[in-house]
Amino acid sequence: MAYLTGLTKGGATWTPTFVEAIDEEKCIGCGRCFKSCARKVLGPLDLEDEESESIRMVMTIVAGDNCIGCAGCGVGCPKKCFSFKPMEV
Ligand code: SF4
Ligand code: SF4
Repeated sequence: MAYLTGLTKGGATWTPTFVEAIDEEKCIGCGRCFKSCARKVLGPLDLEDEESESIRMVMTIVAGDNCIGCAGCGVGCPKKCFSFKPMEV
């Protein structure tokens, strides 16, 4: 199986890993990932909990096609919500 690769500024090969999913059960809505993504891939969503009649914010993927596979959003996530995947070619 082959994956899409790119080059660093220094000419080294690297394999981008694109955002695949965010675990909304684990997400605490801190917004760190939102601030770290320069590609505007992520966006907040208000989730309604019918049982407790409360609303909590979670992060979602709103423009996945804009992702460049840097995985930067996952680095600062305190709850390890992100999963990433390289692109098969
Ligand atoms: S991998 Fe990079 S471009 Fe993609 S959502 Fe995360 S921070 Fe944004
Ligand atoms: S950094 Fe993690 S916990 Fe914080 S909003 Fe993003 S996905 Fe949720």
